[in-house]
Amino acid sequence: MSEPDPVALNPSDLARARELIRAAERVAVLTGAGISAESGIPTFREAQTGHWARFRPEDLASPAAYRRDPEMVWQWYAGRARDVQAAAPNPGHTALAELERRKGEGFLLATQNVDGLHARAGSERLIELHGNLAQARCERCAHVQPWPGEATAPPPCPVCGATLRPNVVWFGEYLPSAALEASQLAFAQADLALVIGTSSLVEPAASLPLLTLRGGGAVTEINPDQTPISALVTLRLAGRASQVLPALLEDYV
Ligand SMILES: [Zn+2]
Repeated sequence: MSEPDPVALNPSDLARARELIRAAERVAVLTGAGISAESGIPTFREAQTGHWARFRPEDLASPAAYRRDPEMVWQWYAGRARDVQAAAPNPGHTALAELERRKGEGFLLATQNVDGLHARAGSERLIELHGNLAQARCERCAHVQPWPGEATAPPPCPVCGATLRPNVVWFGEYLPSAALEASQLAFAQADLALVIGTSSLVEPAASLPLLTLRGGGAVTEINPDQTPISALVTLRLAGRASQVLPALLEDYV
């Protein structure tokens, strides 16, 4: 696989990308699995080894699976919670937390990732569209808490006594509507959208940068691979997030 170095990126593209970032008052960012790959987060499929290899993803990550065998589903997610807790944010995550500090209220980061690494890097104006593997939430009252690492089966909610579940969006479930609407608004109003490390195939998140273009804003895509939106974006930087993002902010003080 090719791994372009940012210094190998077209210098005028890099200069233009820096200019767009500086000039923008409202910046909306969408990230996907690509930004976390270098933090060693296994994908769902990569995590399905040994005992878990014989299951289909929907046998582990659906409301029906949880009703059928809550203890098994809980144990699968306990393993995934350990995976994300063992990983650490990389310079791509850190650069986005820095950009937020510079842009303040005009900034929003929406992520498709469930690894919690943006929050751990310091991002606060953050929407985790698909939830967070390091958290459990109540099925009834929506109480959210850190993953209870000691539990080997779903424990009761400390607030209402109903059952806790992983705080992630499962197959067959909708994204939380408030999170999606806040993201859509931010992208529609953005002067600049950054689309980072996402295949741009999974809806409804994939359409977010199109809202920016429709509103007259610019879109910069950062991805070593071509995606369905590559032909539509204002600017494309073919590189890895952990290298390109720090390079974009280098002389932005
Ligand atoms: Zn509860």
